[in-house]
Amino acid sequence: MPHDEAQAIQELLSSYARLFGFFEAEGEELVIVGGAVRDLIAAAALPAKLDVDFATSALPEKTIEILKKNKLRFFTTGIRFGTISTIHADSGRMLELTTYRPDESYTPGSRKPEVSFGTSLEADLIRRDLSINAMALRGDGSIVDLFGGREAIAARRLEVPGGGLERTRIILRDDPLRILRIARFAARLDYRATDDTTTAATECAPWLQSISHERWKAELDKLLIAPQPAAGLRWLQQTGALREVLPEVLPLLESADFDRWCEALQQLPTEPHHLRWGWLLLGAAIAGAEADDATSWPEVAVRQQTVALLADRLKWSNEERQVVGELIALPLSTAQLAALPELELRRWIARTEPRVADQCALLVALGHLGSEGAALAPFLARVEALSGEASPVPQLPLGFGKVLMTELGLQPGPAVGQAVEAVKQAIIDGLLPNQGGAQDYLAWLRNRAATDA
Ligand code: ATP
Ligand code: MG
Repeated sequence: MPHDEAQAIQELLSSYARLFGFFEAEGEELVIVGGAVRDLIAAAALPAKLDVDFATSALPEKTIEILKKNKLRFFTTGIRFGTISTIHADSGRMLELTTYRPDESYTPGSRKPEVSFGTSLEADLIRRDLSINAMALRGDGSIVDLFGGREAIAARRLEVPGGGLERTRIILRDDPLRILRIARFAARLDYRATDDTTTAATECAPWLQSISHERWKAELDKLLIAPQPAAGLRWLQQTGALREVLPEVLPLLESADFDRWCEALQQLPTEPHHLRWGWLLLGAAIAGAEADDATSWPEVAVRQQTVALLADRLKWSNEERQVVGELIALPLSTAQLAALPELELRRWIARTEPRVADQCALLVALGHLGSEGAALAPFLARVEALSGEASPVPQLPLGFGKVLMTELGLQPGPAVGQAVEAVKQAIIDGLLPNQGGAQDYLAWLRNRAATDA
C-alpha cells in the first residue's frame, strides 16, 4: 500500500471515528462504500473532498435507534430504500447510511421485491455496478476488496464485480443505467471498458428505453462536465447506447473534427453545465450541416426543433432550454456570425442577456477549432460595443406604466402592456435611446399613434 494512501485513509477515518464507534458498540458493521473508496485508492480526490456513503448491517430501525441514542439528528426520507441520513458534524454534509442489500441480480425479469435487506457485506458489494465501486473501507482502516477493485483501478479497467460476459449481461440488463454510468466513469477517470463490458453493453443498450429519462440526464450531465467526455461519448457510440439516448449528436461523433471539438470543450467552464450541452448540440448541428452542406439561416427552425425535442426527452429546466435554444439559433459559421446584421445582433443580445457572456465563452471555445478563432474577433468586438450603457436590453424609467396611464389617458389593461412593449422593442431595435426620459418615450408613442391614424 503506497504511503500516502495509508495517510489518506487515516485522514478520512479520523473524521468519522465516533460514528464507527457507535455502530461497533451495538455489534453492527458499518463501512464506507462506493465512490469514496474508489477515489481514495485511485487518488482521484482529496479525503476532505470525498462524498462519503456508508453501508451497514443494521436494519433502518436499528440505525435510527443508534443515531437517537447518540443524540445525532436523522432523516428518514430514503427509508424506502433502506437509507437513513444524518449530518456529519465535521463537514456539515449529509451522510447516507444504507442497510446492506442482498444480491438480486441473478434473477432477471422477476419482479423486484419492494426492498429487501441482506446481512452480508459481500452480497451488498457484488450487486454494485463496477468492481472499482464495489470496495468497502472498515473503521479499522482495512479495505474489503472481494472483486478485484484495486487491480481494476491499477489497470484502469471498467468491469462489473465478478466479471464474465454472462454476469455482465445480467447486471447491465438489470439496470441499464449502468451503461451510462460506465461511460461517465470512462469520461471522468479515463478508464477503459473490458471487452465483456462492451459486448454486454452493446446487447443491452436498447433496454435504456426502459428507464426514466431523468436518470439518463443525471448521468449525461456528469459525463459532460468530466475531464474526458470524448472517451465516454465514443464508448456510448461504439455500444449503440448513444443512438438510444442522444441520436442527435451522432453526426458530431462521426465527424473527423470530433477530437478537436473535444479539445474546445476543455476551454468551457463546468458551471453552468448547460454550456456543455450547448457545445454538444451546436457541434452536432455544425457537423450535421457540414454533412448536408446547409449552413444557412432557414435551418434555424429545424435546429431549434431538435433542441426542443431533446429538452423534452431529457426533461431540461427552462433555463437549460433557453440557453441552448438561443445558442443554436446563431449562425453556424464564424463568417456568418461576424456578418450578422446589426438588428439581428441587437435582438439576439436583448433576448439572451444575462447569458451573453456565457454564450460568447462557448463561441470562443468553438473558435479554437481551426482558424476560426481570428474570424470570431469582429463579432466579439461588436457584442462588447453593445454592452454597458450601449446595451440594447431595455431599461425604462421607474413607474413608466403609471406615467403612460396618466399622460395618455389609458385604462389599466392590455393597452398599457402593449405600449410598454412597443417602447421596449423600439429600444432594442435602436429606434429609441435606452435609459431615456419618460417624456421622450411618450412623444414617440404619440407620434406613432398620429402616424398610424
Ligand atoms: P460520484 O463520485 O460521482 O458520486 P459514485 O460512485 O459515488 O460516484 P453514486 O451515484 O454516488 O456514484 O453511487 C454510490 C455507489 O452506489 C456507487 O459507487 C456504486 O457502488 C453504487 N451504485 C450507484 N448506482 C448504482 C447502480 N445503478 N447500480 C449498481 N450500483 C450502483
Ligand atoms: Mg457518490
